[in-house]
Amino acid sequence: MTVNLLDFDAEGLIAWFARQGEKPFRARQVLRWIHHFGVSDFEAMTDLAKSLRGKLLATAAVSPPPTVSDKLSGDGTRKFLFDVGNRNAVETVFIPEDDRGTLCISSQAGCALECAFCSTGRQGFNRNLTTAEIIGQLWQANRALGGDPMGGDRGAAHDGERIISNVVLMGMGEPLANFDNLVPALRLMLDDNAYGLSRRRVTVSTSGIVPAMDRLAEACPVALAVSLHAATDGLRDKLVPINRKYPLAELMAACRRYLVHAPRDFITFEYVMLDGINDTDADARALLHLVRDVPCKFNLIPFNPFPASGFHRSPAERVRRFASILINGGIVTTTRKTRGDDIDAACGQLAGQVQDKSRRMQRAAAAVPKSAATSAGVELHL
Ligand code: SAH
Ligand code: SF4
Repeated sequence: MTVNLLDFDAEGLIAWFARQGEKPFRARQVLRWIHHFGVSDFEAMTDLAKSLRGKLLATAAVSPPPTVSDKLSGDGTRKFLFDVGNRNAVETVFIPEDDRGTLCISSQAGCALECAFCSTGRQGFNRNLTTAEIIGQLWQANRALGGDPMGGDRGAAHDGERIISNVVLMGMGEPLANFDNLVPALRLMLDDNAYGLSRRRVTVSTSGIVPAMDRLAEACPVALAVSLHAATDGLRDKLVPINRKYPLAELMAACRRYLVHAPRDFITFEYVMLDGINDTDADARALLHLVRDVPCKFNLIPFNPFPASGFHRSPAERVRRFASILINGGIVTTTRKTRGDDIDAACGQLAGQVQDKSRRMQRAAAAVPKSAATSAGVELHL
C-alpha cells in the first residue's frame, strides 16, 4: 500500500525512513521538499539519490485532499473546498489583512458536539480528518497562494514576508476531539523544515474539552481560543452541550493551567452574540466575574445566521455596549469583522457538506426540508 507522507511529522517521517533503511537527515530533506517547497513529485527532489527517489516512487506519495473549488471574495478572502472522500468536503478560508494572512482550517468532517447555534453541529459528525487532510489544507492553500512558507523568494507577498503568517483551527469540527491526528499537523506547522510558524501564530479553538486542553499543553502548546458563549452553566449547558461534562468552574481552572505552558500570556475567549439570548449588560457583568482569575482577551463574534438556525444576530449597538462593559472591566475586547460574505465564507456560512452516518442525522434529514439540510454551512470564525 502506498504511504501518504503528509501523514507524518518530522519524528514520524524519520521513523518511517528508518524502516526503509534510510538516515534521519534524508527524512528531513524530504520534509523540506514537501512542506517548505511544496513539491509532491519525488523526481523533482533533485538532491536525493536516484535510488531513494525510486524507492519513494514505489512506496509513497504526497497526497493532499483534492481541491473541489477555490473562490475569491471582493474583500480578498479566499475560500477553498477540499474533497475528503465519501462525498464529504471541508473548507479552508484565507483572510488577508494588512499585517497578517490567516488561514482558517478544519479538523473534522462535521462535529459531534451539537452547539445550538453552529451549522457544523447541525450537520452531525462523519469522521476525524487525518493528519494529511489537516496539514494538506495548509499545503494546498500555500501552493495556491503562490507562497513559500518560509517567506523566501518563491512568490512571497513582499519583503520576504509569508503569505500565510497565521493558522487558526477554527473551521469545521472540534480540533481537540481529534487530538492524535491534530498534534502531528501542529508540529509540522511549527517545524523549521516545514512551515516554521511561531507557536503564538498557531491557534487552536476549542469548545472546552478539559482533559484534552491539559494534553495539548504537554504535547504541543500553541495559542488557545476557548468558545465561551455564556457566563452561567445553565445557559452554557444549552448552547454548548459539552458544558454538561466540563462545566465552567472546571473550564476556567483548565484555562489557568494551560497558561502555565501557553506561548501567549492570555486565553482568547470567543463569544458569539445571540440576540436576546446571551447579550445583555448583566451577561457582560457576569462574564467579568467569571473570568476574574483568568488573564484573557475577548473576541465577540456577530452570529452568522443559517437556514432554520432559530437564532438572530445581536444589533450592532448591543454588541458595542456589551464590548464597552468588558473593556471598562479591564478586558481587551475585539469584535470580529464578518468577511467573505459574497462567497459565503463568513462564520456560519460555509457550505461544506457532510454525509453524516449517525442515526441522529438520519432522523434530522427526515424532519428538515432538503434545501435547509444541504445549505447549512460550516461555521467559520474570522
Ligand atoms: N469547534 C471549535 C472550533 C470551530 S468553531 C470551537 O467550537 O471552538 C469556531 C468558532 O465559531 C467557535 O467559537 C464557534 O462557537 C463559532 N461559531 C459557530 N457557529 C457560528 C455562527 N453561526 N456564527 C458565528 N460564530 C459561530
Ligand atoms: Fe463543534 Fe465548534 Fe460547532 Fe460546537 S461550535 S458544534 S464544537 S464546530
